[in-house]
Amino acid sequence: MATLKILTDEELLRRKSRPVDKINQRIKTLLDDMTQTMRLADGVGLAAPQVGVLRRVVVIEVEPGEVLELINPEIISRDGTQTGPEGCLSVPGRRGIVERPEHVVLRALDRDGNIREYEGEGLLARAMCHETDHLDGILYTDKAEKMLDEEDDE
Ligand code: ZN
Repeated sequence: MATLKILTDEELLRRKSRPVDKINQRIKTLLDDMTQTMRLADGVGLAAPQVGVLRRVVVIEVEPGEVLELINPEIISRDGTQTGPEGCLSVPGRRGIVERPEHVVLRALDRDGNIREYEGEGLLARAMCHETDHLDGILYTDKAEKMLDEEDDE
């Protein structure tokens, strides 16, 4: 496994990612490397464009040890709202207040090519929205109603 470099250059992060048409060894290695990179960076989610790969691939780990590997993820339903602080490994040292749905249902392929649906609530729903946004070049800073100053951190 390799640790990948997390991009912080906004111009690169604005590019749109293409769907995965074939889950080959390269994609599986990408998933492994992304999980390792996310963990080392102490994040709860990482999208492939953040490591310079413009493919619709995401990893999320809200519950330690339970990694969701999402290929071509699509949010198929959302309801409720939650408002809270959010950060991004590509926007280091900053946080902002973002409104997200409280509950989402996401459909994606797993690494074996099976179509699966995942339900997310709270932080998991937030991570699912944040990471799928990355695939379309959207950053949470676009949606933040307020950015927090460093002194707002507890
Ligand atoms: Zn992010």
